[in-house]
Amino acid sequence: MDENCLFCKIVRGQIPSSRVYEDADIIAFKDIHAKAPVHLLLVPREHVESLITAGPQHESLMGKMLLLAPRLAREQGSVDGFRVVVNNGPGGGQEVFHLHMHVLAGPRPWKGF
Ligand code: 5GP
Ligand code: ZN
Repeated sequence: MDENCLFCKIVRGQIPSSRVYEDADIIAFKDIHAKAPVHLLLVPREHVESLITAGPQHESLMGKMLLLAPRLAREQGSVDGFRVVVNNGPGGGQEVFHLHMHVLAGPRPWKGF
């Protein structure tokens, strides 16, 4: 846990979010600036900065997040597919340095993705 991390605060409920899923390892909530009709963020409860700092100990967590994506996309309204985006590091366009998976779906066009 990182005291100053926005997503750690969301995980702990200190900052409100529109949560659509949670389990022991992962939470998912709606992106506050949705760039598609469905725009979810899947976030591990553990503070991992990005795939750059993730390690072998995160292998099953990463698999779990990927396999959760189609279920949540479908539950939130995707009918014909979805996109997964993971930004890593400043050069990868990451703005919140707590690993997260964007799940985007819905009728196009989408803004910025
Ligand atoms: P990144 O650019 O780091 O991959 O994505 C960060 C995402 O977090 C952005 O899409 C941004 O809209 C979203 N975001 C930033 N602050 C908040 C917040 O307080 N609540 C929610 N739900 N999403 C946020
Ligand atoms: Zn964090």
